[in-house]
Amino acid sequence: MLIDLTDHLRCPADHREEYLVVLPEEMRGRHVMTGDVGCPLCGRTMVVKGGILRLGNPPPVEGQSALTAESIAALLMLDGPGGYVALVGNAGCLARDVALELPGVHFVAINAPSHLTEGGASDGWSVLYAERFPLKEACLRGVVIGSDVARDEDWIRGAARALLPGLRAVIEGEVPDGIGLVTLAKSPGCWVGQRGTATGQ
Ligand SMILES: [Zn+2]
Repeated sequence: MLIDLTDHLRCPADHREEYLVVLPEEMRGRHVMTGDVGCPLCGRTMVVKGGILRLGNPPPVEGQSALTAESIAALLMLDGPGGYVALVGNAGCLARDVALELPGVHFVAINAPSHLTEGGASDGWSVLYAERFPLKEACLRGVVIGSDVARDEDWIRGAARALLPGLRAVIEGEVPDGIGLVTLAKSPGCWVGQRGTATGQ
């Protein structure tokens, strides 16, 4: 896990959004390979092992994403390098390829299929497993939600909230109303929306 990501992590416990403290034991470049992660509010402790951060018990990964790295790069419409994009559920298997399409952006694969996760991370991406959406409000330049997680409204809400205003979500499924995302485009297998810029969205 890229150590810079620490600033954007949230505790998975059901309390107000709170920062986490990472105590690295082993680093490889800017990636934490082994270490402890703690929440100062509830005292919960979690671990980084093999470069992978585990925040509780994740839902099972199912099926395969029909998205491609090229389509994700085109639909997110990111302007230049920098920042973070989350790839959730089975869409996480595209982290390596999307990182090549969009150099300079860091991809966070959340609850990805396990074959992606050997080695835990590279310069372009990190791997997390989490029981709820693990990133704080307004920290992401984009979100991609694979077909397995696209059925879960809590995860879509968490992901929408973590987007910076005006930036985009690509979701492999139908999206409910009232989650703070404005529809930009939809097709049978893919929905593209934008986080609203008005207060409260
Ligand atoms: Zn906590």
